[in-house]
Amino acid sequence: MDQPAHAPAARLSASGLLDPALWTGKVFTGRWHAPDAGVLEVREPATGLLLGTVGASSPEAVAATVLSAGRAQPEWARTPAEERARVMRRAAALFEEHRDTLIEWVIRETGGVRGKAETELAGTIGELYHSAALLIEPEGQVLPSAAPGRMSLARRVPLGLVSVITPWNFPMLLAMRSVAPALALGNAVLLKPDPQTPVTGGVVLARILAEAGVPEGVFSIVNGGAEVGEALVTAPDVRLVTFTGSTAVGRRVGRLAGEHLKKVSLELGGKSPIIVMDDADIEAASSAGAWGAFLHQGQICMASGRHIVHRDVADDYVAALAERAERLPVGDPFREEVALGPIINSRQLARVDTIVKDTVAAGAKLMAGGTCEGPYYAPTVLSDVARDMPAYDLEVFGPVAPVTVAEDEEHAIFLANDTDYGLSAAVYTSSLDRGLRMAARIRSGMIHINDQTIADLPGIPMGGMGVSGNGSRFGSTTNWDEFTEWQWMTVGSGQTAYPF
Ligand code: NAD
Repeated sequence: MDQPAHAPAARLSASGLLDPALWTGKVFTGRWHAPDAGVLEVREPATGLLLGTVGASSPEAVAATVLSAGRAQPEWARTPAEERARVMRRAAALFEEHRDTLIEWVIRETGGVRGKAETELAGTIGELYHSAALLIEPEGQVLPSAAPGRMSLARRVPLGLVSVITPWNFPMLLAMRSVAPALALGNAVLLKPDPQTPVTGGVVLARILAEAGVPEGVFSIVNGGAEVGEALVTAPDVRLVTFTGSTAVGRRVGRLAGEHLKKVSLELGGKSPIIVMDDADIEAASSAGAWGAFLHQGQICMASGRHIVHRDVADDYVAALAERAERLPVGDPFREEVALGPIINSRQLARVDTIVKDTVAAGAKLMAGGTCEGPYYAPTVLSDVARDMPAYDLEVFGPVAPVTVAEDEEHAIFLANDTDYGLSAAVYTSSLDRGLRMAARIRSGMIHINDQTIADLPGIPMGGMGVSGNGSRFGSTTNWDEFTEWQWMTVGSGQTAYPF
């Protein structure tokens, strides 16, 4: 707070890795150079302080970057798998080595608390090690042959160029979950981070991957908003677009990709239910509910966005959740010990407040929070939230827990499925049989019995049903399906006899 609002924040300059002299006001296309579309300012959401500037790209610059990626990719694909795996492991080690600098940047650029930054860094490193491990797996099959002496093979080949478009909430991790497997499997990657988080979502990856040995042109960054994003989607040589963001923008990206006949992976929004049944441990369930609703100010796609609670325990659950909400300290996560930091920007803050106010005006009860101060929104609990109220079905992306009463098991399942989204879900019950029975009837890409809705690991098939995505999955062996395509090859000595 001791710096003027226009001066780049000094402490972040400390690490050689992110020395601002290397990247300030520049773009990265295998090397750092001056931009053709001005610069983007990066501001700390908690204070408004300027953290730095990055170079912005024009759609024409995107086209040129795609061309140079196309020239660099074939040689990278021919690089022995073990060498590509070594590059991934070296990158993972560099993330570990620069841990303190990276954590500081994540806290300050995304407004997340230290624990969130540590989790994001650990996930990023995990993605790199998992991607290296993909390269010891088989990459094809020997198939039955139609002719004696002719061998029939199916093998996975890289797609070529992959565009990656990411949001601001977990910029480093959500970029790396696509960038690492795409590179490991022999593709070249063009990354567009959200304009609010281009350092941990872009500069960091560029610096570390180049240091680790990714050749020039194989990994590039383009900075900008919708126009630049669309240029990356429609560029003729791009074969796969992986997009993480809102369902509204995902629909647009999906339409453009379809028109240009590109493969597209869409990981979109959510309104994930946590169900609390009458036999649940209310202390444990309310703790999980608070974590699921308030972690990173609710700005997580898998946040527990609907709390569906059996009538017999609803009052107890709401009271326990409201008490937890009131205890949680909110403030600047870099300078204070807090549980919740700022909302990413003033537009989003106003949207959260409007949804809360409109839901209360429609008849819901405000049991905690509902107030904002500067960029901070207090953890909020709404009870008696009915199906026709805004907080029931809108993705809030803020620290708001709307509670809806379920009459019985059947009603709870109905309410859980009463959404177009289907990203994550959770069921609290002391009966595992009941939990399994209910989980089998809930339409959700991920589901947890006796836990909350936010969980991710590099080795799981991460993704959603309904309008939370288009059926794609990240992680584990699904990465082979996402980032390569099949080629059938037969090989023989050329002695097949034909009637012609
Ligand atoms: P957003 O859709 O506004 O932006 C995401 C990215 O798309 C940004 O980089 C943005 O610049 C870019 N973009 C915007 N318009 C574009 C266009 N027309 N063409 C191409 N790119 C374009 O999303 P957001 O507000 O940054 O993120 C919040 C949303 O992301 C929430 O809905 C959240 O649930 C979702 N999300 C989903 C996951 C998941 O894994 N399913 C993870 C994190 C966030």
